[in-house]
Amino acid sequence: MSILIDKNKCVGCGRCTLVCPGSLIKLDINRRAYIKYPKDCWGCTSCIKECKVYAINFFLGADIGGMGSRVHTEENGDILKWVIESPESGISVINIDRKESNKY
Ligand code: SF4
Ligand code: SF4
Repeated sequence: MSILIDKNKCVGCGRCTLVCPGSLIKLDINRRAYIKYPKDCWGCTSCIKECKVYAINFFLGADIGGMGSRVHTEENGDILKWVIESPESGISVINIDRKESNKY
């Protein structure tokens, strides 16, 4: 598992570096985020939910999203959108209402 950070989108806020439980993400000298230890990423997805400019993508396993698929999140009020991009099936979106997410 690992993430991909688009340095062209990163604005250097540092939020991803603070939430990664393994301290795997660092800022370079230009305050652009990069993952220093990609093999240690265990896919908690905390960093992608913190990035407000959608600079971080998480690679999905082939058994989940298909080969080469990845996901990022976008916010719209209480709705957290999980945007999945797949080379085979295109873009699909799962909307989660954060106010309802802990209800069973
Ligand atoms: S997915 Fe989790 S473990 Fe992996 S880099 Fe992001 S915050 Fe760290
Ligand atoms: S949260 Fe996004 S914008 Fe902020 S440092 Fe990380 S990648 Fe860059």
